[in-house]
Amino acid sequence: MSSSGSGGGESVDDGMVQQDGSSLSRSPYEPSVNAADHASCEQMSGAAQALNPEVRQLLASMQSFGCPPPAIKCVRCTLQVGGGYERGLGVVLCEDRIRDQSSMNNILTHELVHALDDCRVRNMDWGNLAHHACSEIRAANLSGDCSFLKEVMRGKVGGAFRGHYQMCIKRRAVLSLEINPACSSRLEAQKAVDTVFPICFEDWTPFDKLP
Ligand SMILES: [Zn+2]
Repeated sequence: MSSSGSGGGESVDDGMVQQDGSSLSRSPYEPSVNAADHASCEQMSGAAQALNPEVRQLLASMQSFGCPPPAIKCVRCTLQVGGGYERGLGVVLCEDRIRDQSSMNNILTHELVHALDDCRVRNMDWGNLAHHACSEIRAANLSGDCSFLKEVMRGKVGGAFRGHYQMCIKRRAVLSLEINPACSSRLEAQKAVDTVFPICFEDWTPFDKLP
């Protein structure tokens, strides 16, 4: 995906904007209007749940943490995002944006990390930027958001690659935090991400090694 979003031409993975149901006057997700898009999205979502190792492991680990499996549905999105997770609503996948299986695997993995964190982290508060930042760092790190190929396609690779991966994780986390209504500025998002990065970057739950 390379649609232009709020991140200076970079699309954001998810819009976790309504965690308490009161932040926006209108939902960023809408019912389907294109039957072909919807069917294709549902088919790719089913394939990811059946075949993708990371998606399967995340779903299995939710069960072992005693977390009810989240609803996973394809919808149309009004934000420039690929998907989202909201407590109570579950995982939404943007059928008008997800065009191939690899993107589906990436986005569903990302959102399921949020779903897992929402359940396993005690007193998880999405309105607390440190909590949200930690989950975004984990979701970006564990979903392949910052693979070399994705960065090349975003036009972000050039010059020194040393340290680039960690910079990418931070940059993606900041983009998602900026959508949080509790976040007042990019600087505030960056501070939250920098503060929790050392701990959350090393937390690979439920994986033993980086996928
Ligand atoms: Zn996210």
